[in-house]
Amino acid sequence: MLVSADLSSNLTISDTQSYIDLETTYGADNYHPLDVVITKGKGAWVWDIEDNKYLDCLSAYSALNQGHCHPRIFQAMVEQAKKVTLTSRAFRNDQLGKFYEKLCQISGLPKVLPMNSGAEAVETAIKAIRKWAYTIKGVAKSQAEIIVCSNNFAGRTISIVSFSTEEQYQHGFAPFTPGFKVVPYGDVAALEAAITPNTAAFFLEPIQGEGGIMIPPDGYLKQAERICRRNNVLLVFDEIQTGLGRTGKMFAFEHEGVKPDGITIGKALSGGFYPISAFLSTSEVMDVFNPGDHGSTFGGNPLAAAIAIAALDVIVDEELPERAAELGNYFISKLQAIPSPHIEEVRGRGLLIGVELKPEAGGARRFCKALMKEGILAKETRENIIRFAPPLVISRSDLDWALERIEQVLIAS
Ligand SMILES: *Cc1c(COP(=O)(O)O)cnc(C)c1O
Repeated sequence: MLVSADLSSNLTISDTQSYIDLETTYGADNYHPLDVVITKGKGAWVWDIEDNKYLDCLSAYSALNQGHCHPRIFQAMVEQAKKVTLTSRAFRNDQLGKFYEKLCQISGLPKVLPMNSGAEAVETAIKAIRKWAYTIKGVAKSQAEIIVCSNNFAGRTISIVSFSTEEQYQHGFAPFTPGFKVVPYGDVAALEAAITPNTAAFFLEPIQGEGGIMIPPDGYLKQAERICRRNNVLLVFDEIQTGLGRTGKMFAFEHEGVKPDGITIGKALSGGFYPISAFLSTSEVMDVFNPGDHGSTFGGNPLAAAIAIAALDVIVDEELPERAAELGNYFISKLQAIPSPHIEEVRGRGLLIGVELKPEAGGARRFCKALMKEGILAKETRENIIRFAPPLVISRSDLDWALERIEQVLIAS
């Protein structure tokens, strides 16, 4: 008690340890952050409270594709904040429709339902899928099944962790939501075998981000599409991490020319400023919703909509998917050429890259700590994978700067 009183009354704390103590004194211990206290960000770079500069190679798990504090998105936020920020959906606002139209033009899907966090977009997808199963497909009451993949990540709500295969995500949180069936990621035969007359949808990430930058075999998405079509099963992609330019296309499903029935997006839709997510789908799916079926107080608020419009404009106008493709190929090939005894495999698409380390390398975290000392912020994914996912606005010279240091750390550490 005394400790916390001292800390909170001290308004001039400026050293890193004091900030860390404040967080650990008052905060839940549900993350394991690197001990850098960031106070400023611009483009691909951030600064800590001691004015050390770092290249951000995580981009808030791909929520910062446009870079930190993008001036155009900032401007849109300030302009909108001066006018009106929240109306609730009890009334209409003059930003929401424009946001819908832009998103539909960009995605090729005709309907949108806006939410706030990624997990809420996934929850929305699950509700839409289930109601479609009952009202359109004709599945018997409470029997709808959704097929998902092992090693998935889709958020942290009870229903979402109900279909996680990560033991820690479930441990201590039972009872779980029924109605999910897990098949191995990348296994077409297993998908086909899992389908029953009650199957409503196949819901998956086109590339598994949190699962360790796992890229399915070529043709997997296309074959999954064919199987879904044949069985009247919806194909729904979680593009929350892979979408909006990250993998070198606007959406990762475009790599295989697939036409999904629905997608969830979030993260970079915010431009890094303000949480906003969405479920997008065909009209047939979205039309299952009637007034009162679903909603969110903040979902679709005018501040979020104005920010998302600018965030999307930046992705299109600055050709961020094209940048991700070009710089990603370059980055991946340079990483693959690093002669480190610790590297098992370098894989990625666009600027979503994983460096998997050998089991005997001692885990990825020690390398992330060493990288931090060199001015690069990256985070371990699973135990032994280092994820490199810098903002898509990063320059080639900044990448070269990083590569030199990454090589050094991976060889010397
Ligand atoms: C981050 C993420 C989510 C959850 O988003 P939140 O905004 O953290 O709720 C869902 N799916 C995927 C693929 C993600 O990477």
